[in-house]
Amino acid sequence: MILDKEHLRKNLDEVIWNIEDARIAVSEHHIVKLVTVAKYTEIENIATLYALGQRAFGENQVQQLKERMTELDELPLEWHMIGSLQKNKINNLIDLRPTLMQSLDSLVLAEELNKKLEAKSGKMSCLLQINAAKEESKSGVASEEAFDLYQQIKETCPNITLKGVMTIGAHTEDTKIIQQSFETTQAIYEKLEKEGASICSMGMSSDYALAIRCGSNLIRVGSALFK
Ligand SMILES: *Cc1c(COP(=O)(O)O)cnc(C)c1O
Repeated sequence: MILDKEHLRKNLDEVIWNIEDARIAVSEHHIVKLVTVAKYTEIENIATLYALGQRAFGENQVQQLKERMTELDELPLEWHMIGSLQKNKINNLIDLRPTLMQSLDSLVLAEELNKKLEAKSGKMSCLLQINAAKEESKSGVASEEAFDLYQQIKETCPNITLKGVMTIGAHTEDTKIIQQSFETTQAIYEKLEKEGASICSMGMSSDYALAIRCGSNLIRVGSALFK
């Protein structure tokens, strides 16, 4: 549905104030970046959100990312890849030069991506996706292995610039369990921060306030903005 500007302004304001409340509870110096997940919405709504000041957008499919980047080419937007990357789409993604690839979810994918980046003399900033809730339906590396894998990718994949971690909160109504998945990820992030990691991406429409209180500094919000 194409939403009018006042409608989107109201939704955006609500999210922004919720972010403010949550981040101030952590610290006045805790800055949180909002990435709008546009995968379910029309391209017109992206342009309207841009007019309202929003600059960073995320997509979970390479094809859709490409179409939207092309169509909105004249706007100074930042694009994030947030979905599982299939092997046969790696070259397409490299050519799009996304600002951040948030869903690097295995060593095999890292090695494959690195090889193809090398062939194109390209670099890509990525986050290591952690399956902190240990859910079979989710991709991402196991939290127990995340720290070591992060080091290994840093050492063996010079064309990948690792900037931190990403997780999707546990899929449950139980706030305690969701919080646990964020705290697990945050603990790994804090260890990696000492080695230069700067992004901890966690929190979506249903749980971003909790994620921020657990230390997230990048949230990916879709449905709360397009309701
Ligand atoms: C779809 C999606 C989001 C946004 O979800 P909402 O619940 O609509 O806010 C965030 N992160 C990832 C990885 C997604 O696939």
